Amino acid sequence: MESAEIVRRFLRFFEERGHTVVPSASLVAEDPTLLLVNAGMVPFKPYFLGQRKPPYPRATSAQKVIRTNDIDEVGKTTRHASFFQMLGNFSFGDYFKEDAIPFAWELLTKPESEGGFGFPEDRLWATVYLDDDEALDIWHKKAGLPLDRIQRRGLADNYWHMGVPGPGGPCSEIYFDRGPDYGREGGPVADETRYLEVWNNVFMQFQLGAVRGKEDFDIVGELPAKSVDTGMGLERMAAILQGVDNIYEIDTTYKILSTAAELTKTRYGRNHRADVSLRVVADHMRAGVMLVGDGVLPSNEGRGYVLRRMLRRAIRNLRLLGAGEERYMHELTDVTIAVMGQQYPDLVADAPNIHAVIDAEETSFLGTLRTGTAIFDVAVEESKRKGTSALSGAQAFQLHDTYGFPIDLTLEMASEQGLQVDEDGFRRLMKEQRDRAKADAAAKKTGNADISVFGDILEKSGKVDFLAYDHTTAEAK
Ligand code: ATP
Ligand code: MG
Ligand code: MG
Ligand code: MG
Repeated sequence: MESAEIVRRFLRFFEERGHTVVPSASLVAEDPTLLLVNAGMVPFKPYFLGQRKPPYPRATSAQKVIRTNDIDEVGKTTRHASFFQMLGNFSFGDYFKEDAIPFAWELLTKPESEGGFGFPEDRLWATVYLDDDEALDIWHKKAGLPLDRIQRRGLADNYWHMGVPGPGGPCSEIYFDRGPDYGREGGPVADETRYLEVWNNVFMQFQLGAVRGKEDFDIVGELPAKSVDTGMGLERMAAILQGVDNIYEIDTTYKILSTAAELTKTRYGRNHRADVSLRVVADHMRAGVMLVGDGVLPSNEGRGYVLRRMLRRAIRNLRLLGAGEERYMHELTDVTIAVMGQQYPDLVADAPNIHAVIDAEETSFLGTLRTGTAIFDVAVEESKRKGTSALSGAQAFQLHDTYGFPIDLTLEMASEQGLQVDEDGFRRLMKEQRDRAKADAAAKKTGNADISVFGDILEKSGKVDFLAYDHTTAEAK
């Protein structure tokens, strides 16, 4: 079943059950607390909070989303993309758990010939929040799911919120058992590769204040009405329904992947590291093209930084695949527009602009790479000669400061050489530089010019904690 058909079936199913079909909102969130739309419910947030009266009691959509906090997983797990699409059904104070669960069950198990997805019942599992006996009962009694395929999980997995103040509540996730080839028995609690999460049903009930982490947040009150927000991952459904190993091999994404393989004369499926690179290229091309299509331009902060990071990681991985000085972004952009254009025809009309933006970024990054890589190699040799297993903070800082070499790239390339990087030292020097710049600020604001390619946000939010800039614009300043 093609991706486009999965979308059609989902929307039709819920339209037939009284839901208004709402087109995807732009990736650029209207919500001032978010950088980019990271879930299907984002455009509906004011309805859940009771800030605005919903024009319809039920809605359904296929929403474009970006999750920067999943970037490091891309290509390595079978199931994480940075750009993906969430199919959702929403109730704004209308139905609650007692209908949401049976809806989901019906659509998943209904035979393909009758408009459903035809999943065999015995391959489906569900999780519920620890004390949510209500949801457990509905799964068991209304849907008929045996008790031994319903698992209880805690806050980290079964309590949903946006990562910022807003609505939230316990949730119930639905998993498809891909079979023993994919991992061990024991349900999603035991193995989330074998048991692939396809759909999350959130029972919106509470208003959250401060959110400090997945499991650490304040509940400040109840929502004006109990609501439902669900998100089904289109790419994960496609992987299952198309019988492929992972979400990078589905109809749309695989065309980009195989173009990258052809261009770099790489065979997919031969070598793990090359496979990861091919998947990263395919994924990041999708994210990059979709972001440019929504009006984002590469820059050193905020959304522009996310876009820049995607495009540069794609280029960097092409180099790892042996692209050398060749320029492949134009062709990859073409194929990405062609595959995504079926669902998003505006991309086709906007192609000249999308090309212009991506080509320019390629030119600038290839220049940076050329100089930076030469300096990096010298630094590596120096470290090896000295018999140390790490690049010094000063070396990383020089690469960043003088040659515009992003720290995450230095980290990645160092680890390929079996070297570490003294990140604390790097950050200390960055801070010193910032303090100096502050002191100079009265004079003129040119201190840090345009030499920090990736550094700034990363520097402030920490290397791995992409969640921070995923969720707040403040971080990006
Ligand atoms: P996971 O635990 O696998 O990281 P999640 O619990 O973070 O997923 P939700 O926030 O519940 O995901 O999002 C709803 C649905 O969106 C998921 O059930 C899944 O189908 C899909 N999804 C989530 N993250 C990704 C991703 N990075 N790439 C592709 N699909 C995703
Ligand atoms: Mg996740
Ligand atoms: Mg999950
Ligand atoms: Mg989930």
